[in-house]
Amino acid sequence: METQNDITRSAMGLGEWAYDRGEFVSATAPRLTLSTQGLHYGTGAFEGIRAHRRGDGLFLFRARDHYERMLRACRILRITGVPDEVDDLIGITVELLRRNGHQGGAYVRPLVHKLALMPHMPPGVSLVGVSDALSITSFGFPTSRTVPGIRCMISSWRRPPRDAFPAQVKLTGGYVNCALASDEARAAGFDDAILLDQAGNVAEASTANVFAVLDGRIATPPDTGDLLPGITRDTLMTLCREAGMDVLERPLSPADLFTADEVFLSSTGKGVVSVLSLSGRGIGSGTVGPVATRAAALYDTAKSSTDGAHPEWLTPVTPG
Ligand code: PMP
Repeated sequence: METQNDITRSAMGLGEWAYDRGEFVSATAPRLTLSTQGLHYGTGAFEGIRAHRRGDGLFLFRARDHYERMLRACRILRITGVPDEVDDLIGITVELLRRNGHQGGAYVRPLVHKLALMPHMPPGVSLVGVSDALSITSFGFPTSRTVPGIRCMISSWRRPPRDAFPAQVKLTGGYVNCALASDEARAAGFDDAILLDQAGNVAEASTANVFAVLDGRIATPPDTGDLLPGITRDTLMTLCREAGMDVLERPLSPADLFTADEVFLSSTGKGVVSVLSLSGRGIGSGTVGPVATRAAALYDTAKSSTDGAHPEWLTPVTPG
């Protein structure tokens, strides 16, 4: 008989196997206790890594960079009880994807978090005296999912300043801010939110970085701001520069976005997505623009072709 877990698993494309604290287990077997510290206090961090098809082969994209970012989060949260070598983490991920045998592409979700208070520890919020856990799940993901363009709003929620909350890694607790912003946008009939920082400059979208095309140049807020410096952001900046395009990091105001020729977002999950309107104002021609189209094409080539300019970004799972 099909259980609720089976239904959830197939609806989400969740692979049959997961990695959990040192072993490969059924992805739907409940294994965390209700007292899990990361659940109570947001003391965890995660990554989202894509694997793309090239012919019959499957290749992880920039897995090393994703795991290096996760290990930086471990340092912030004093998470020491998980594998801390990038090569080991990639090895576990490759084994997981081989076991799950997703038909198309895949999305990999590693999660590290605080687990249980040590016996001598009093209850309360703490980063020491608490055990740690690493799990990795994977989901089937269509190889290319082209989004024609989205409508965004400027969120009434601001990004927290980085002296209050580290923005440069994907800490689970920080996603409350992202959830509030995306919920507000969807409730108001938009697809996504663009959040400002405390000074009123553009920080990022709810789960993506922001680019604007101004006077023929590509601009994105500096990675010293209150934003996650995305790996897709870095990929696009690198590829566009190599293709001879002008890319600069500089503060962007909402008015810069309203008057830009194009605005587009970048993220592992969605790739390059054009913003066609912002808070009800059309941007540029109101269609997907030539710069976003070119950036998306460069990205597509880099993530699924070993003949591309950056073969070091690809890890073979099944070489095909
Ligand atoms: N900002 C936030 C808040 C995100 O959650 C994401 C998605 N990881 C991004 C930016 C884009 O980062 P990346 O390109 O590494 O996926």
